[in-house]
Amino acid sequence: MQHDYDVAIVGGGMVGASFACAIASTNLSIALIETSVLEEDRQPSYDERGISLSPSSKHILEHFGVWNEIYAHVTPIKEIHVSNQKKFGFTRLTASESNLSELGHVVIAQSMGKALHKKIKQFENIEILCPVKLENFIKQDSGITLELSTSNGTKMIDTKLLVGADGSNSKVRELSGIEVKKSDYKQTAIVSNITTQKPNHSVAYERFTSHGPIALLPIDDNRSVLVFTAHSDKANDYLNMLDDEYVKVIENEFGRRLGKICKIEKRRGYPIFYIEARKQFEKNLVLLGNAAHTIHPNAAQGFNLGLRDAVGLAECITDGLEKKLAIDDESILEKYIELRSPDQKSVIEFCNGIANCFYNESFLYHSFSNFAMILIDCIPELKSTLLKKAMGVSGHQPRLVRDINL
Ligand SMILES: Cc1cc2nc3c(=O)[nH]c(=O)nc-3n(C[C@H](O)[C@H](O)[C@H](O)COP(=O)(O)OP(=O)(O)OC[C@H]3O[C@@H](n4cnc5c(N)ncnc54)[C@H](O)[C@@H]3O)c2cc1C
Repeated sequence: MQHDYDVAIVGGGMVGASFACAIASTNLSIALIETSVLEEDRQPSYDERGISLSPSSKHILEHFGVWNEIYAHVTPIKEIHVSNQKKFGFTRLTASESNLSELGHVVIAQSMGKALHKKIKQFENIEILCPVKLENFIKQDSGITLELSTSNGTKMIDTKLLVGADGSNSKVRELSGIEVKKSDYKQTAIVSNITTQKPNHSVAYERFTSHGPIALLPIDDNRSVLVFTAHSDKANDYLNMLDDEYVKVIENEFGRRLGKICKIEKRRGYPIFYIEARKQFEKNLVLLGNAAHTIHPNAAQGFNLGLRDAVGLAECITDGLEKKLAIDDESILEKYIELRSPDQKSVIEFCNGIANCFYNESFLYHSFSNFAMILIDCIPELKSTLLKKAMGVSGHQPRLVRDINL
């Protein structure tokens, strides 16, 4: 069978686009298929959300040559202040006590999108098919035939490897019949950018409340991204409130650490689910990013994890090709899962653990969350383990991440 492409990536969101950058140097012929027009604000992956990037992500983006493009738009995080509403425990993680210049960076997703796509357009072996939607696929003896809808009607293409990076409601996952573990946290993250009276001094805040975390990520001197997590049944009330009323709610929940909130920008709601594919690959097909695992945004790990997966998969493909394996050799995908599952498992357990520990109404969990906070602040080894996890450098990592000297 003659194939149009070696690799077809469905989804040009943050993870799919990153994977395209990661395998570009292999000289494989690659199609990147994206349904939303990339330059428009409607692109769901690249909205006004502030994304917190770990040092491992910064290192990867530098390697892609994308960091230069977003550098002017990123804000360093020098300190993370973690507290528990109505309880006395809190902890402070600082860059200086770990001899680092920063703990991470915040970038607006839109800037990331622009930089990734600008980079991808430079590669002659990558063809961007957009706006084009995957509607169906048929598995062949060797490879997969994709049915795509385009503005000119239906188009069929053949590929040896199909990468499903098409988000939480992945069509690739659905068509392949891969089942998921799914739970509804019944929480909605309401995201808006705010301007505060006092400068944030590059401090990120995370405050755990009984209805979910409230986070403030610095994006400029007096500007921060506010992520307010509410019970989903109250989310519409918060989304439709007048700005003044909403500011009162936030100031009441978060306090006035940064003085008054002077300006609040457009609010967007993101219902929070946990979705984990029961398997991440089968013959000629692999899932990446939110399609493989959608996790709670409480520890800002989703994209950071997806990016390490993207790099891990690219490394396994490169190693396989060097050993003269065909791109659709299943042992490449087996190696990928072997490489990435410990990190995936650890991050998923970490995020689920936070969700269960801090928002659980039971007395035992309440006491434990308070105790945990004090313990983390007092025991340097615990603090350092937590930091390494948040920075994406703990455990078994792709070679590119192992190179980082922290
Ligand atoms: C409120 C909130 C805050 C967050 N903050 C952070 C953070 O600070 N740090 C962090 O690391 N992570 C964070 N995350 C997680 C992060 O946003 C996700 O992990 C990341 O967006 C996943 O990217 P993705 O490319 O896998 O999926 P998506 O972003 O969903 O992209 C999927 C893409 O596939 C396209 N697509 C879908 N179906 C088709 C089809 N049939 N054909 C063609 N194209 C298709 C879509 O248009 C989309 O562009 C946050 C998440 C939320 C909700």
